[in-house]
Amino acid sequence: MKFQPKASHFINGEYVEDTNGAPIDVIYPATGEVIARLHSATPEIVNQALNSANAAQAEWAAMSGTERGRVLRRAADIMRERNRELSILETHDTGKPLQETLVADATSGADALEYFGGLTASLTGEHIPLGGGDFVYTIREALGVCVGIGAWNYPTQIACWKGAPALACGNTMVFKPSETTPLSALKVAEILIEAGAPKGVYNVVQGYGDVGASLVTDPRVAKVSLTGSVPTGRKVYAAAADGMKHVTMELGGKSPMIVFDDADIENAVSGAILGNFYSSGQVCSNGTRVFVQKGIKETFLNRLSERLATAKIGDPLDEEVNFGPMVSENQMNIALGYIKKGKAEGARLVFGGERIEGDGFYMQPTVFADVTDDMTIAREEIFGPVMSVLDFDTEEEVLARANDTEFGLAAGVFTNDLTRAHRIVAGFEAGTCYINTYNLAPVEAPFGGSKMSGVGRENSKLAINHFSEMKTVYVSMNDVEAPY
Ligand code: NAD
Repeated sequence: MKFQPKASHFINGEYVEDTNGAPIDVIYPATGEVIARLHSATPEIVNQALNSANAAQAEWAAMSGTERGRVLRRAADIMRERNRELSILETHDTGKPLQETLVADATSGADALEYFGGLTASLTGEHIPLGGGDFVYTIREALGVCVGIGAWNYPTQIACWKGAPALACGNTMVFKPSETTPLSALKVAEILIEAGAPKGVYNVVQGYGDVGASLVTDPRVAKVSLTGSVPTGRKVYAAAADGMKHVTMELGGKSPMIVFDDADIENAVSGAILGNFYSSGQVCSNGTRVFVQKGIKETFLNRLSERLATAKIGDPLDEEVNFGPMVSENQMNIALGYIKKGKAEGARLVFGGERIEGDGFYMQPTVFADVTDDMTIAREEIFGPVMSVLDFDTEEEVLARANDTEFGLAAGVFTNDLTRAHRIVAGFEAGTCYINTYNLAPVEAPFGGSKMSGVGRENSKLAINHFSEMKTVYVSMNDVEAPY
């Protein structure tokens, strides 16, 4: 098998196997070929990983911030040096075109390692003067063992976006990748060890939801960071609450993108393309409800169709290809099912709509127009290349409709009216907003959702607060005054 790793799990600095776990076949989405066979973690493997993370934590936290940061920055350098190799692996794991993985996966992971590696040495508490010479100081402390659980769309990025801030703060991690894309996180673990991380600081265990669930409830675990769907988020949040664990929830969305008639149409079409079809539409923050002001609707749809017709669909390893297969047959069938529903509920199909026959899990980029707010395709997250275009008349109306969803991950507006852009963004109920652009996620900026789309933020300095806590120390310089 082409991409068979040394073993399924990476624990205490080494590859570890236990073939008693349920098999996990890794399928290359472009061909349907099995490229690796791994095994889900048994309870013994989970125990081993948690013990290893637990044992390593005190030593790791006791290192100076400068030393810890150096390890993370070295790991970032190694990832960049191996970007092509890692991107080829990511393309096999996910089916995403190499054109994308070369610039959005290991590179994004390296950015996180570099950014948090740079912050590590300046993570401190503060000094708070009180009256009479007394004072308080705060100590920023690690939480302990953190569990990361990943989705399948950005496996390398997710492994690093969770691992880098966790490790920067002196925590250790047990990461469980998605069972659909289990390969890349093993490379992240290998690279961290090579960069000088002590054994046990970053461990990877494979498995289905039950393995994730057993990690979440373990008393050795202080924090759980999940990237996944809302239904999984509900379960994980509830399970973590029992042990009063810290959580970060990066969940699904059904984000709005509003295009006013004064917008630069070509830019708006570019935003809609990036925000619906990058990674074959398998991006959590996608702006899948595109509200277009009535006067420009047909122009927008025509330009969109013309440009979609130039998408290069095919072998993801061909660097000219910019639209690849879906991650799995199952995910393709889910998206095709929504297309059926869209047609049945009366939406007008203006582009695509079909599976592309062959061994791989390919489908066409798809656009529906005349979509109304109550249609299933406008309410539920599809997580595939299916865009819904809705019409609107006024600003007030469109903002209310944009917010009329349980989700609140992202939202975007295209307009050349400066004050309107800021007014709309102020009214959006979403964690990540865009003006005249869409779907950027640089490590310097906070990323995350509100409402059902999540809790907490990844990236930026804010992530530090989600992976550390403050100890408050009161110091008296005076006698203690007791009442009797
Ligand atoms: P999923 O919810 O099915 O699975 C996510 C992860 O949770 C997997 O590793 C899975 O094995 C694990 N899991 C499942 N049940 C569990 C349980 N009971 N306890 C613990 N772990 C459990 O999601 P998916 O299909 O892998 O990914 C797609 C979803 O992820 C979409 O909803 C998408 O919007 C979301 N997503 C969100 C972000 C974000 O940053 N907000 C990024 C990428 C993907």
